[in-house]
Amino acid sequence: MKYNRILLKLSGEALMGKQQYGIDSDRLMQYAEEVRAVAEAGVQVAVVIGGGNIFRGVQAEAFGLDRVQGDYMGMLATVINSMALQSALEKLGTPTRLLSGLTIQRVCEPYIRRRAMRHLEKGRVVIFGAGIGSPYFTTDSAASLRAIEVEADVVLKGTRVDGIYTADPEKDPTATRFPQITFDEVMEKNLNVMDMTAFTLCKENNLPIIVFDMNKEGNLGKLINGEEVGTLVTMNGTAHNLDPKHSGLQPDLHHSSTASAEQQA
Ligand code: UDP
Repeated sequence: MKYNRILLKLSGEALMGKQQYGIDSDRLMQYAEEVRAVAEAGVQVAVVIGGGNIFRGVQAEAFGLDRVQGDYMGMLATVINSMALQSALEKLGTPTRLLSGLTIQRVCEPYIRRRAMRHLEKGRVVIFGAGIGSPYFTTDSAASLRAIEVEADVVLKGTRVDGIYTADPEKDPTATRFPQITFDEVMEKNLNVMDMTAFTLCKENNLPIIVFDMNKEGNLGKLINGEEVGTLVTMNGTAHNLDPKHSGLQPDLHHSSTASAEQQA
């Protein structure tokens, strides 16, 4: 297995499937099945789901609402999606825990880092709901932050496109996919991988990102088995600096070869 602990980011929008709004049950079960398979293979799985299929904070103005209120509504939308995924996983017999950035004690545990790590060690799929619990952030930022906090090896960003392209492949047929790319190249070429806060968190903590097509059945399993799927973003553009003992809490150690040698000793 290539990774010991992963953080999977799923967009809320993808949960809509072919619908215009809400949750498509087939898509939900497909995602749950993929997560079940990798968890049963022994990978520790944390998941962050967006809320764009229900509400996004930026929509607030169009509704004549306050932006901050809209962001909290968006966070609650992510909790609804998280609860749906939790239920789908439990239907498949996979133990889960839902930890929320907002306190909603009847349905979620509060987010406590040590508790999250303990759940992961015990093989429970940990779903992080309500983003980071603060307005003006996105679930991509929540994915990066939680991945660093729980010392995940990689952030897997599931999208409907199979990686990062030179241009938008849905608009430009000549666009080509990067199998690997560096954080710096993504910034230089102004490519859209994650919002800047989320992306910078990964870059500064040397946390690799893989952008891949989550809607293609079996892709998550292939990634876990080390197959080249999607686009890998790393500090030097190769897979070599993937550090299974990744600790985002000590970013400087990751940049220093002597320090990482010390860590391995
Ligand atoms: N949100 C927030 N803080 C967070 C995470 C999410 O305010 O830490 C709000 C924000 O309004 C966002 C919405 O929740 O638009 C839904 O999340 P997101 O847009 O990231 O979902 P996705 O695009 O992945 O479906």
